[in-house]
Amino acid sequence: SLDAAREALERLSRVIPDFPSPGISFRDLTPVFADGPALRAVTDALLEPFAGRYDVIAGVEARGFVLAASAAYASGRGVVMIRKPGKLPRAVLSEDYDLEYGSATLQVHDDELPKGTRVLLIDDVLATGGTLAASCSLIERAGWTVAGIGVVLELSALAGANKLPGRDIQSLQVV
Ligand code: AMP
Repeated sequence: SLDAAREALERLSRVIPDFPSPGISFRDLTPVFADGPALRAVTDALLEPFAGRYDVIAGVEARGFVLAASAAYASGRGVVMIRKPGKLPRAVLSEDYDLEYGSATLQVHDDELPKGTRVLLIDDVLATGGTLAASCSLIERAGWTVAGIGVVLELSALAGANKLPGRDIQSLQVV
């Protein structure tokens, strides 16, 4: 349930000041991933709002992979991997974007799924929204649709949802 997921997040997630650079309050979910019941509760709560509306789960390298794989197994769907440059071996689509701390590129295999596949996009933290906006672009450029976006934690001060207009974003916790 959402309550169980929120309880687990309150109990286990950590805030690390000035990581990876001064001024960033890093939200560390690794203790949530390391706890079996917590990972299961968070996974189930991420999926629940989107029941029946997706065919596959997309995860963003690297922490998104943990959640996406867990959600894929729980729902009997597959995973599509949205990766950092140079990791995927076949033809890719690429998207460049700005980060809270730096800039980055993400890639996806352009032929991984049939056209029209409904993709549920999962990640750990919604900060500026750049990562998820780039991921949505990749999904749509590949000919698939974004069924929704599920995140564990949304940092409201960074207003990342503004970069994702019209998307169905479900956050387990907003801080
Ligand atoms: P953004 O593109 O700014 O929304 O950043 C989202 C990505 O960067 C996510 O994949 C997060 O894992 C990571 N990230 C950004 N800011 C933070 C933060 N304050 N704490 C933890 N992870 C973060």
